[in-house]
Amino acid sequence: MDKRTFLKLCSAALSTHVLSPLLAWAQGEKLRNWAGNVTYGTERLTAATSLKDVQDFVKNQIKLKVLGPRHCFNDIANSTDQFLSLTPMNEVVALDPGVRTVTVEAGMTYGQLCPYLDGKGWALHNLASLPHISIVGACMTATHGSGEKNGNLSTAVSALEFVDATGNVVKLLRQKDGDAFRGAVVGLGALGVVTKITLNVQPRFMMQQYVYQNLPLKELTTHFDVIESAAYSVSLFTDWRSESINEVWLKVRMENDPRFDAPPEFFGAKRATKNLHPIIELSAENCTEQMGVPGPWYERLPHFRMGFTPSAGKELQSEYFVPRQNAVEAILAIQRLHDQVSPYLMISEIRTIAADDLWMSPCCQQPSVAIHFTWKQDWPNVSKVLPVIEKELAPFHPRPHWGKLFTFSAKQLQSSYSNLPAFVDLSRKYDLQGKFQNEFLRMYIFTAAS
Ligand SMILES: Cc1cc2nc3c(=O)[nH]c(=O)nc-3n(C[C@H](O)[C@H](O)[C@H](O)COP(=O)(O)OP(=O)(O)OC[C@H]3O[C@@H](n4cnc5c(N)ncnc54)[C@H](O)[C@@H]3O)c2cc1C
Repeated sequence: MDKRTFLKLCSAALSTHVLSPLLAWAQGEKLRNWAGNVTYGTERLTAATSLKDVQDFVKNQIKLKVLGPRHCFNDIANSTDQFLSLTPMNEVVALDPGVRTVTVEAGMTYGQLCPYLDGKGWALHNLASLPHISIVGACMTATHGSGEKNGNLSTAVSALEFVDATGNVVKLLRQKDGDAFRGAVVGLGALGVVTKITLNVQPRFMMQQYVYQNLPLKELTTHFDVIESAAYSVSLFTDWRSESINEVWLKVRMENDPRFDAPPEFFGAKRATKNLHPIIELSAENCTEQMGVPGPWYERLPHFRMGFTPSAGKELQSEYFVPRQNAVEAILAIQRLHDQVSPYLMISEIRTIAADDLWMSPCCQQPSVAIHFTWKQDWPNVSKVLPVIEKELAPFHPRPHWGKLFTFSAKQLQSSYSNLPAFVDLSRKYDLQGKFQNEFLRMYIFTAAS
């Protein structure tokens, strides 16, 4: 099922009675993720339009998963039983300037929220490379952008409402609920159906985006800290084919980074003379404005524009987080693998993320650098390269992105999360029978306790 059909089905639910089974309209199309590499194990997809819908539905199901806009590349969202879509629940519930928060329903995407917030004079601290994803779907997998001082998107969460396996409504607040809150925010969809989420906001701000080409690797490894702190958000794109980084994207917060005066050269890299796509061969039409043109935060922080296909489209993705202090060594380790990586790669991206305190976040208690791979859609070969990368990164304690492809064993993954046993206990508190578990969660999370 393509994206247009999926959205049509979900919005069709708005005009029909609640808890609409959407399968009737699907006409035999397979339900797949955005990239098309995962065919889900069921096409039973029902849309909820209210909290009561969600409660009734959860009470009546033995097993279910929530399906958001389907931007995960692995099976974390998969189900063989039943999907619930909250796409019709996409309203702003409250904007509270006094405490600087916005509360939204769980079907809302960043693309829907950001223009609203900006229009009211507010902003989020950071965004991922694309605005098409749902806020809750992103927070469940610790989706992140870049910026030394910027935590991942889940760090903006200050409260969460979800329906547990018995149909009860649970509310958790950062200020009040300590460990339960820290366990639930990057919840991997394991605790329940999130129905509302509250995010911290800040006054709107303007940004400029500059792209530089061909940063010598030697300059990067010598001046890594200075380069990464040169702007509010820095992304490095490389195909590892040469001894230089193809593109450096600097997102400058105008009131915060006045010292960045966009010199023609940046550590040996040359300022681009037109807008570029991270994959140089592709048109920059899909990309957010560059060349220092001032614009609002939500039109500069993502790389890709709403209304256009993000990234390349036909692709796979993997990403590994390593502790910040291992960044340069880890980058050099991948560079040494260039012969094995480059043939199957479209582009890599290197980003920094601040430490947080969310139990299942790959950045929990450690400032991190994320090394990302946008692969050609060639799983037979990509699946052979991933173990090579994982072995090479092993000395640097990598953690994979929860929503992307990896080949770590459950044991390896579990050993890198000290809070995992507590997370399992917390999940069982709200879902004793494993109603929200799927094969992915059973394999990587719940085998830890059995
Ligand atoms: C082109 C592209 C670019 C990307 N760029 C980035 C990037 O810059 N940074 C990054 O970190 N990641 C990135 N990703 C990965 C992706 O954004 C995340 O993995 C994200 O989780 C996808 O969210 P979604 O809204 O599509 O939700 P889905 O993929 O549909 O769901 C994600 C998970 O959340 C659960 N879930 C969703 N809604 C609820 C709910 N209401 N209650 C309980 N559980 C729920 C689902 O069951 C599933 O487990 C990118 C992906 C693509 C395709």
